[in-house]
Amino acid sequence: ATPMSIMVGIGRGARDGVLIKDAQVLETMEKVDTIIVDKTGTLTEGRPRVVDVVTVESSSKDELLALAAAAEGASEHPLARAIVDAAGERNLQIDEASDFQSTTGGGIEAKVGGRLVLVGKHDYLANSSVPIPQSITERSTELQSTGRTVVYVAADKNLLGVIAIADPIKETTPDTIKKLHKLGLNLVMLTGDAQATAQAVANELGIDDFKAGVSPEDKHDFVQQLRQQGKIVAMAGDGINDAPALAAADVGIAMGTGSDVAIESAGVTLVGGDLSGVVKAASLSRATMSNIR
Ligand code: ADP
Ligand code: MG
Repeated sequence: ATPMSIMVGIGRGARDGVLIKDAQVLETMEKVDTIIVDKTGTLTEGRPRVVDVVTVESSSKDELLALAAAAEGASEHPLARAIVDAAGERNLQIDEASDFQSTTGGGIEAKVGGRLVLVGKHDYLANSSVPIPQSITERSTELQSTGRTVVYVAADKNLLGVIAIADPIKETTPDTIKKLHKLGLNLVMLTGDAQATAQAVANELGIDDFKAGVSPEDKHDFVQQLRQQGKIVAMAGDGINDAPALAAADVGIAMGTGSDVAIESAGVTLVGGDLSGVVKAASLSRATMSNIR
């Protein structure tokens, strides 16, 4: 490998918004046969917004949203921001919260006006002994099968209802997925989101391999398992929850729009979170390495 051609390759990448850390990363990228992608913030824009609120009979939509927003005030999760913004847009009064606790990849709890409020995914509430009516689960699955993320809300262990959140697919994603397939790469989507939501996004993009409901540790372990099977793995992600998996991959690819922890764990950073940079990095590594040989 001539240092000169590698320098040129890294320079070309930088010009196109693909920041490659060093020569080693470019060399390894050429050998990659499997690309793992996170859903939220990587395939999707990661700027979710509330599109629907569904309540159980006894509760009001405004009350549900105001309580959820109060409890989410201290969370930095993009879903929390969507909920707080939606409450703000409706001019709802948002009370002070205390005793905030967050479970990564699950949800949050906080005390609001003497009530214990839980906001999170189905299993997070179910595991905290909140009974979830069948009718709500069915409605949630319906919303999820159109690609919505559904967040459950409870007060004092009573389910108030769910919030449906939309996060559009990035403009560059469909074309990027097609090109990655064309390059002969195996593609797997990983997400902490629900099975039905993941299925809808995978269908829309033509991704046939995915895993839903995975924790940050699961993402990391999945990368490690593939490597133990002899695969050369690139992992693309944007969040704190992706950082362990990015660090475990042969090549970690972070969205420049993502968390600092993700960027620090990665060998490649895509400026502006432009996913087409994954294709550029793959083609660039192949072009560079074939010049060298
Ligand atoms: P992803 O892998 O899609 O980036 P996460 O691992 O961050 O997702 O979260 C997985 C799921 O956990 C979310 O889809 C949501 O249902 C729930 N969740 C996580 N954090 C929060 C939060 N602050 N508020 C509500 N729900 C949350
Ligand atoms: Mg993400």
